[in-house]
Amino acid sequence: MTPRAVSPDRLSQARKAVADAGLSALLVTPGPDLRWLTGYQALPLERLTCLVLPADGEPFLVAPGLEVPAVEASSVPSLGIEVIGWGETEDPYAMVAGRLPSSGGRVALANRMWAEQVLRFRAALPAAEQSLASEVLGDLRARKSPDEVDALRRAGQAIDRVHSRMAEFLVPGRTEREAGREIAAAILAEGHETVDFVIVGSGPNGASPHHEVGGRVLEPGDVVVVDIGGTTAEGYCSDCTRMYTLGEPPEEFATYFAVLHQAQVAACDHARPGVTAESVDSAAREVITAAGYGEFFVHRTGHGIGVETHEEPYIVEGNTTVLEPGMAFSIEPGIYLPGQHGARIEDIVVATEGGIERLNVTDRQYVVLGG
Ligand code: ZN
Ligand code: ZN
Repeated sequence: MTPRAVSPDRLSQARKAVADAGLSALLVTPGPDLRWLTGYQALPLERLTCLVLPADGEPFLVAPGLEVPAVEASSVPSLGIEVIGWGETEDPYAMVAGRLPSSGGRVALANRMWAEQVLRFRAALPAAEQSLASEVLGDLRARKSPDEVDALRRAGQAIDRVHSRMAEFLVPGRTEREAGREIAAAILAEGHETVDFVIVGSGPNGASPHHEVGGRVLEPGDVVVVDIGGTTAEGYCSDCTRMYTLGEPPEEFATYFAVLHQAQVAACDHARPGVTAESVDSAAREVITAAGYGEFFVHRTGHGIGVETHEEPYIVEGNTTVLEPGMAFSIEPGIYLPGQHGARIEDIVVATEGGIERLNVTDRQYVVLGG
């Protein structure tokens, strides 16, 4: 793994948010919150690693003694975070509790913390109420800095390069799994450090939005949903869906694809700072519903993206979050006809001062491959 450097602003913003929210501390175990705050890609182990941001006092990180060299090689020391190793027979939960200025109040825990750690912190801090870190980190992570937008733009370009090579992979006679294996290799070759997911939904499999790959053989006339993403060495995620057909598609596909395309454009045209996340969902859904396909659009319109593929803001009915410049999210309406085929068009976009910038720029029309 490439060591990742992050701006010290994140830590200071988080410390301020902890104090402003009236929390007594924020506890962050390995996962996206820790990576976002410090750049440290800790191994997810049963032995406790935990960054502690007390409302009063300096941040510190407890780590198993054997992990201390890895912590010291990361950007943690350069952020001025004290590193405290613990020995195999010590209780790191008691160690954290003992160093907190207050044992009561409210303690926020990383959203992806494991249940066994949550319960051990509950036992070590019985007077403290537990809450979620997203209360203080959700907004900070959702509004991307210019550097983060640049990193997401590079991730978008990397996945666009994979889509532009799809004729190499979607060849009749191959199974989805075989095509998917080559697509995964291309995701790495085109500038990602990890492959996060590869969806090749051919024919009826395309009607199941999260079908990944299976043994179905690609055939002439197939409609194929390709939704792929990875994480770059900078730690930012890509996620893009395009549609392919092997030769000319069935007539009904062309009809509903035109509706879907119009819906995706309508949502992109609507999205801008000042509108709510749910109104972007409505902008896409109204077009699809008006054309009679409403019951076949079975998921929300999108999700935020950053150091995780799915994070805030979610573009879904009921989310009244007002979009702000720097928020990055997907716009990915779909239409799925059970037993036949399905379609989705997905771009990552980032809100600018006056609208949005698309971070995926390949043509959104379906691509007809040889067949
Ligand atoms: Zn996707
Ligand atoms: Zn997505």
